[in-house]
Amino acid sequence: MSKRKGKPVVAVVGRPNVGKSTLFNMLAGQRISIVKDTPGITRDRIYADVSWLDRSFTLIDTGGIEPDSSDVILSQMREQAEIAINTADVILFMVDVKQGLVDSDAKVADMLRRSRKPVVLVVNKVDNFEKYMADVYEFYNLGIGEPIPISAANQMGIGDMLDEVIKYFDEDSTEEEEDDRIRVAIVGKPNVGKSSLINRLLGENRLIVSDIAGTTRDAVDTPVTHNGKDYVFIDTAGLRRKNKIKEELEHFMILRTVSAVERADIVVLVIDAVEGVTEQDAKIAGIAHDRGKATIIAVNKWDAIEKTEKTVREYESRIREVLSFMPYAKITFISAKSGQRLVKLYDLIDTVAENHAMRVATGVLNEIMAEAVAMQQPPSDKGRRLKLFYITQASVKPPTFVIFVNDKNLMHFSYTRYIENKIREAFDFQGTPLKFIIRERK
Ligand code: GDP
Ligand code: GDP
Repeated sequence: MSKRKGKPVVAVVGRPNVGKSTLFNMLAGQRISIVKDTPGITRDRIYADVSWLDRSFTLIDTGGIEPDSSDVILSQMREQAEIAINTADVILFMVDVKQGLVDSDAKVADMLRRSRKPVVLVVNKVDNFEKYMADVYEFYNLGIGEPIPISAANQMGIGDMLDEVIKYFDEDSTEEEEDDRIRVAIVGKPNVGKSSLINRLLGENRLIVSDIAGTTRDAVDTPVTHNGKDYVFIDTAGLRRKNKIKEELEHFMILRTVSAVERADIVVLVIDAVEGVTEQDAKIAGIAHDRGKATIIAVNKWDAIEKTEKTVREYESRIREVLSFMPYAKITFISAKSGQRLVKLYDLIDTVAENHAMRVATGVLNEIMAEAVAMQQPPSDKGRRLKLFYITQASVKPPTFVIFVNDKNLMHFSYTRYIENKIREAFDFQGTPLKFIIRERK
């Protein structure tokens, strides 16, 4: 399996009605990530975070839209499988014991087998293991390994299935740690200039060792050396789909973005200066934010707009408004066409990467917290006042702090935000989100 950083991606592939949504919703539980408020994709569950034992992964649903007639099912499935092959570490191929082995299943199985990606063959709707086992064995004929019987609706066999899935995840995290290259995802809507930017960044740094040729991966890794430092740019620009309705395009865009962002530490969100910042940009930014990645907003095509001395400030305030959930993000104005500020972009990436991986000593953190508490009394409710006992940084990428308090319910969001601001005043955490975990200590 190719080396990649971040949480593994697992994709579910299968014909309509085999029970993909049922499984997806069950595994996702409460934490399902729905990309909200967008016409066309509101009903889609596109990705979700799943934990099993001590492993966690991102589950993606490759099913775009429902087919309107049976003859498009196979082509749809091929497309799903293609996405899964290009984006996932492990593919869950789901079939239906009630429908039995169908020709299109066999065709897709061939495709998956040739891809050499790990595939877990899941036979759903086995509501009664004893009764249906003979039918389950029939799926050995697909030639992609042992069929795992489950019942998504009745939550049977799920544990065995997940055991199979996580078996394929990379075990050796030691090797990963040796890879200290800065991993940067270049994301954004179509036509904002992602490919142009990547080409420029490469063009100026002729040390390219790329495996792009001939492949149609959804996210492509390109190693680049700049000023003696190593970077990997992960971009989603490559693949273009023609003649698709908008809804489906959007679905693919989100999938590709999730897959790229998942494997990066730093996200460069490219925005089109001519178009200005849009809700679609916000949605893409939200993916980086949710995943705790550091973010740089690169306003591209800066050459193409007329500017006064107020323009920068106007753009900044509009971006802060639309992307209000990530005030920490750095903003820069670039031109992939002229090369303007691209060297500076590298500096920004370096800075933000450092901040994203910064560790603050516990002693200093507690001093800051004590001072903050002295300056602004913690909230109270029904005579009970919040007490903050202790703070420590539990992890990096993103910096994650654990605060021990007397009563979690008293720790209002606004007070956490206040503590966050105090920490930000004391340290340069620009570009990175900070995470806070509130724990009770009696
Ligand atoms: P999708 O099109 O692959 O996403 O399939 P859905 O999740 O929408 O499921 C299709 C139908 O199969 C629905 O009516 C489900 O209730 C049903 N279904 C899903 N899982 C099971 C199961 O384990 N057993 C049975 N008997 N029905 C199931
Ligand atoms: P992608 O879909 O995000 O990869 O966008 P492309 O890199 O394909 O660029 C889309 C269009 O924008 C192309 O016509 C580019 O020539 C143009 N473009 C990209 N960057 C710039 C820029 O900095 N300035 C101007 N004026 N045009 C740009």
